[in-house]
Amino acid sequence: MKTPILVRCLSILAMFGLVACTTASNLTSSQNLVADQAAFKEAVKQAKPGDTITLANGVWNDFEILFTGQGQKDAPIRLTAQTKGKVILSGQSNLRLAGEYLEVSGLVFKNGYTPTQEVISFRQNKDTLANNSRVTEVVIDNYNNPERYETDFWVMMYGKNNRFDHNHLEGKSNKGVTMAVRMNTEASQENYHRIDHNYFGPRAILGANGGETLRIGTSHHSRKNSFTTVENNYFDRCDGELEIISSKSGKNTIRNNTFYQSRGTLTMRHGNNTLVEGNVFFGNGADHTGGIRVINAGQIVRNNYLEGLTGTRFGGALVVMNGVPNSPINRYDQAKNAVIENNTLINSDNIQLAAGSDEERSAVPVDSTFANNLILNDDGRDVFTVYDDVSGIAFTDNVLNTSSLPDFAKGFRNESVNLVRAENGLMFPDNELGVGVAKTLEVTTKEQTGAEWYPKAGPAVAFGSGKTITVSPDQGSIQAAVESAQAGDTVLLEAGNYVVTKFLRLDKPITIKGNGDVNLTFERTTLFEILDGGGLQIIGLNISGADSPDYAGNSVIRTSPYSMLKNYRLEIIDSNFTALDKNHSFNVVSVAKGTFADSMLVRNSSFSDVTGSVFKLHAELDDYGIYNSEYLTIENSTFLNIGQMLVDYYRGGRDESTFGPHLVLVDSKLENVGHDKRNPFESSLLLHGVQVANLERNEIINSKPFLINHTVGEPKTRIIQNKFIGTALPEVFELNSNLPPTAILQNNSVMSQ
Ligand code: CA
Repeated sequence: MKTPILVRCLSILAMFGLVACTTASNLTSSQNLVADQAAFKEAVKQAKPGDTITLANGVWNDFEILFTGQGQKDAPIRLTAQTKGKVILSGQSNLRLAGEYLEVSGLVFKNGYTPTQEVISFRQNKDTLANNSRVTEVVIDNYNNPERYETDFWVMMYGKNNRFDHNHLEGKSNKGVTMAVRMNTEASQENYHRIDHNYFGPRAILGANGGETLRIGTSHHSRKNSFTTVENNYFDRCDGELEIISSKSGKNTIRNNTFYQSRGTLTMRHGNNTLVEGNVFFGNGADHTGGIRVINAGQIVRNNYLEGLTGTRFGGALVVMNGVPNSPINRYDQAKNAVIENNTLINSDNIQLAAGSDEERSAVPVDSTFANNLILNDDGRDVFTVYDDVSGIAFTDNVLNTSSLPDFAKGFRNESVNLVRAENGLMFPDNELGVGVAKTLEVTTKEQTGAEWYPKAGPAVAFGSGKTITVSPDQGSIQAAVESAQAGDTVLLEAGNYVVTKFLRLDKPITIKGNGDVNLTFERTTLFEILDGGGLQIIGLNISGADSPDYAGNSVIRTSPYSMLKNYRLEIIDSNFTALDKNHSFNVVSVAKGTFADSMLVRNSSFSDVTGSVFKLHAELDDYGIYNSEYLTIENSTFLNIGQMLVDYYRGGRDESTFGPHLVLVDSKLENVGHDKRNPFESSLLLHGVQVANLERNEIINSKPFLINHTVGEPKTRIIQNKFIGTALPEVFELNSNLPPTAILQNNSVMSQ
């Protein structure tokens, strides 16, 4: 009986306000409030067009929601929360919707993971799909399988004419694309889905293939059209792997999205006639931030704004690929009829044309235009790299500020330009040039996306950003201080000698600091153990293994032995490590399989008498292209009498979906490194599959040689101005290609002892 309630509601509205009205309307039969899974099932069975099923506030554990029904265009069947954001699906929960005109809103998935392959699926099973349905204001927050490399997906869209909008997807950390549009049957092709106003929150570096944020189609069905529109979404630090969006189908529209400091690119990997328009990319100069990559026929790239992008190779700000003649469906179709116009690129490092040109990819871009683009860099650098014949691209009316014009084509002119940042956050020349993006381009902001009632991700907690907890040797308990500390806090040790009798377990980022007058020994097989969510910064400590147990395989710092979803950071600054030689294979840092560091840093530190390795990053032995740390940086440090290796850095396999690993070793000294009989590779430094390595100004004395294996991609290795004394020059091997070695070795000196 709706009417009486409505009348009563209106009559008391003046006295009690709108809240009373809402509560009353929840009690009507069409606002079915359900409080348990059985009631929900019954409500679904009864639901008629126009009905709403309301889940009661609270935590719903292990709830596999199957929402089916036949709504109508103007009377959908709704599933919502009593209060948006207050209905939490946790444990082993998921959502399938199937039928017509269904709408789901207000739910939050957190504290658990899907028991199936998908958290939200627009189908019940292979044959029963959802059409004309909508998922809006739903949150999936860190809802990850605890096994980092176990694959699942957060959202899979099937069917036709579905909308996914104003949702918040944050913190996918295990393997598998965050969201995909599936086209595996005819009932899901030519689907006209709309994906809009979603907040795609931070997705950390996966360190493997399978970290894409959004994929539309797959190569198998890629010559079919999807007609999916992706608009007004915000991609915030989507760093999973080199593809942020992978369009693998025809006739998609990707417009007015913002890509904020995200590693990777928007790639038209397969399919023809996609429109990429009005998107904004802010790289902020962060590593591997990229823009738009063009492959296939009929792609239009216009009115996009790209600033501060550092990406190279296929990850550049703007990339037009070479194709494979008569390409198999899973390779590279030739770029044809591309229109690239009125884009603005500012302080972006690379535009790559005919990229990927090789024996197989020999079909150059044809019948394409590149017009009215504005390309400016503060330093006037030339951002173009041309890998093959680009006479199939007509260049007209492009404006640059380089010192000389490109030599591969006409159609560019130099202008001296003064840039001014406008209210919409974009930079425009202060004089009208008639090129680049329109001043009217509307930039999608973070606030316009997601569910307004759910907070968006802030910056990562920095070391040393919290409070300081002081510990003295007579109080003893570093462990108690570490346990009570909050993320970002510093445990400051007063001068003296400390014997640590328990593992110091870190489940948040913590700084342990001394002023050079703190001596630590430890009685367990490790001193620090970094757990999921943890991180460690060491400053000004002297750490000795003198009190360690007489076992093989001790370490000073190790990760959890179990899979870790959250990436961690490790920094060692102004510290000294000695006497790590109680038994054999004593490592300074050793990591477990299924763990990943965003970064590791050593600065102004010394290490002596270590029987194992300093950094043992060699736990991923399956050769799946997985590795243990994105960055390892060693500066101004010394390593004396290290039995095995300074760094054992391993990334096997032939996968090319990651940017790392990276290594920097500069201004450091190695002496007597690698001579232990257990050292498996007769090397003082092993880099296997490392993508970027800079070894400069080091002194290497009486040590085993560096061994560098290039595997896939175009690894960049620079070995410059090092002194090798009583040590052979580094050996660099190209394992999977017959190409000449690509490593740069310059100004190194070799001396006998
Ligand atoms: Ca991939």
